Amino acid sequence: MDFNDSPEEATFRAECRAWLELNAKRKARADQTFGQGQSPEQLVAASREWQGRKAAAGYGAITWPEAFGGRGGTPMQEVIYREEEGHFEVPPNMFAVSIGMVIPSLFVHASDEVRARHVGPALHGEELWCQLLSEPGAGSDLGMLRTRAERCTDGRDGWILNGQKVWTTYGQFSQFGMVLTRTNPNVPKFEGMTSFFVAMDTPGIEVCPIRQASGESEFNEVFFNDVFVPDSQRVGAEGAGWKVTLTALMNERLAIGGVMPPDLWRTAAEMMRVAPLNGGSAMADGRMRERLAELYMNAHGLWLLQARGLTALGKGREPGPELSISKITSAPVPCRILPHLAIDLQAERGVLAAQEHGDDWRLIESLWFGAAGMRIAGGTDEIVKNSVGERVLGLPPEPRTDKGVPFNQLLS
Ligand SMILES: Cc1cc2nc3c(=O)[nH]c(=O)nc-3n(C[C@H](O)[C@H](O)[C@H](O)COP(=O)(O)OP(=O)(O)OC[C@H]3O[C@@H](n4cnc5c(N)ncnc54)[C@H](O)[C@@H]3O)c2cc1C
Repeated sequence: MDFNDSPEEATFRAECRAWLELNAKRKARADQTFGQGQSPEQLVAASREWQGRKAAAGYGAITWPEAFGGRGGTPMQEVIYREEEGHFEVPPNMFAVSIGMVIPSLFVHASDEVRARHVGPALHGEELWCQLLSEPGAGSDLGMLRTRAERCTDGRDGWILNGQKVWTTYGQFSQFGMVLTRTNPNVPKFEGMTSFFVAMDTPGIEVCPIRQASGESEFNEVFFNDVFVPDSQRVGAEGAGWKVTLTALMNERLAIGGVMPPDLWRTAAEMMRVAPLNGGSAMADGRMRERLAELYMNAHGLWLLQARGLTALGKGREPGPELSISKITSAPVPCRILPHLAIDLQAERGVLAAQEHGDDWRLIESLWFGAAGMRIAGGTDEIVKNSVGERVLGLPPEPRTDKGVPFNQLLS
């Protein structure tokens, strides 16, 4: 395992840092967050502007091929850029799904005309895309999705879509979405699906934001009521929707697997230093120091796992189980241990929100509320554990009673 950059990586890191110094403000503290008090619309506008600036400088899509406006860089370079960016106050990245998942599947499966029209505007932050896969009855097993696309019978060359999606991240701000539908219920579940892209303002598409416990609305329910989609917006062959989706999902781990906020244990240590406990500082209390040590050891262990996975990526190898295991542990480590500690340090004031505590509390609040979602997004803990069990430990796979059975015979 390499802890240090190779000479090329060190040069790239210095370039990124120099560009960021010129274009963004360095954080005064590791737990500082961008855009306090800004409305969601302002954050979207800031995110678009930042994506555009990064794209103009060659950092907008580091791993994309040069032919599509990317840098042709390595996953390791992407990670280096994100590590460096983590030290600066920059807008939230709302383009992770567009740049990391949807558009890469257009590279492979869409026509030249579609790519020529859509890749550039997404790269430069002009158009945001969302991913319309999950449904109320299909999440871990997307093979069970029921949103229907049926050929038009009125002479138009297109399809009529009906159904419901859920969990659609940033659907309310997106101009376009990639939607997976069922076009043939008479064949096994993964064979009868087809992908389309849709403009989110097409008549019949209704986007309903879901209000989360944090008060934010990052994701949505999306309803399709007799939505007409021309056949030119089909992506890939009829029945090849699962193949198109796999291309996006294969890119997902790097797209959404962020680099942990750096030095979170230092944030906890500073909180302990200033929090009063039993007439002194919380740092003087042995039990509290044990909790800080637990946070540090877990965070460091996670960092070592990620470093191993990234070393494999940097050497052009597929990472082994490290990234799956870090997916399972990354929610509990910084997202549960740190906010629990921070809340306990505040004693009875721990139940108050950032409105009362002040902006410094926003990171704790967002980690606290975000932890549950981190255990679900990109594969739930149980699904990732199943995959570690089967692919790493060689345990017998789960029994599959649906193999080869037509989709319409699976419905109860
Ligand atoms: C923050 C966030 C953002 C998201 N963004 C998007 C998005 O933009 N687009 C999109 O399409 N989706 C998105 N999702 C949806 C996400 O992909 C699904 O929530 C996820 O795949 C789980 O599906 P589900 O919620 O339907 O749960 P289910 O699949 O119904 O699972 C329910 C429970 O059963 C368990 N379970 C299911 N199957 C098994 C099994 N075989 N073995 C053991 N346990 C099992 C699960 O672990 C879970 O605990 C997002 C989710 C989150 C949290």
